[in-house]
Amino acid sequence: MSSQGVVAGRVTRRQLLKTAAAAGVAAALGGQPAASAQTACPQATNGAGFYRFRVGSFTVMVLADGTAPVPRVLPTWGANPDRQEEFRRTLESYFLPVIDGVNSYHPVLVDTGRNKVLIDTGLGPLGPATTGKLAQHLRNAGVNPEDVDTVFITHCHPDHIGGLNPQGRPAFPRARLVIGELEFNFWTSQAQPTPAVQQNILPLRDRFVRVRAGQEIVPGLVAVESFGHTPGHLSVRVQSGNESLLVFGDAAGHYILSLRHLGSYLVFDMNGPQAAAVRRRLFAEVADQGTLITAYHFPFPAVGRIRRVDDHFEFVPAVWTW
Ligand SMILES: [Zn+2]
Repeated sequence: MSSQGVVAGRVTRRQLLKTAAAAGVAAALGGQPAASAQTACPQATNGAGFYRFRVGSFTVMVLADGTAPVPRVLPTWGANPDRQEEFRRTLESYFLPVIDGVNSYHPVLVDTGRNKVLIDTGLGPLGPATTGKLAQHLRNAGVNPEDVDTVFITHCHPDHIGGLNPQGRPAFPRARLVIGELEFNFWTSQAQPTPAVQQNILPLRDRFVRVRAGQEIVPGLVAVESFGHTPGHLSVRVQSGNESLLVFGDAAGHYILSLRHLGSYLVFDMNGPQAAAVRRRLFAEVADQGTLITAYHFPFPAVGRIRRVDDHFEFVPAVWTW
């Protein structure tokens, strides 16, 4: 095995030398060997900001809105103050930074053939320059903002609604807007609405259709109760034939900590114990059914499955396919 490999390696190297010599000759004759070396390794755009796959007859795309640095992973990400040392050891064992991490943001487009449903809208102009890429990446995937006929909002945190009404103009002008009733009522009844809600929800408030858990968003997509991260957070179950996908939104939390340390919560979870209980229920459900999942803050392309390991769970990324 090894001797063959060495021989093969020698042959390859000799061929390469021949090719290089030929290129030199070509250069002498006025060819362009330098350019050919460059075209052999073109600038790749790494999926051009989207990852497309099938769920039954539906086409689903995870869209990268971008990434942003998150300083002080601990203690902000793991909000349980008595478990910080445990979390630190876990992050280190997964080669993840304990102090400064990176967050990423992944809206999802589901094309059922009848509807094009965008789930969440990224940060829009609310984040650093490395975010707010949703519209550009949708176009890369061949989808114009006017093509989106439904926008579903899982919850009203800025990183999910910031791309809805940037600069006071609806980014998806033809879309029917859908949101959980509890979520809408909570954020729009605040005496002091957050700036993100003021800019993206209130100006469009009359356009929102409010749904409850268990209700259909469009045929093939159903809202799933996942309260806790915010008071009315809803996830989405996508079903086509006998294939399904659970779009967690922020109900999945952190892709290592929340699965490894059940019962833990994140500082962004408005009701920590409730968010942790919902997570445990949904993780168990998708693990036992082998359901494909996507989660907003998991690493791109944020698609895979959840499996049981001892007393906890683990994210198993899907294999990238073109
Ligand atoms: Zn989020």
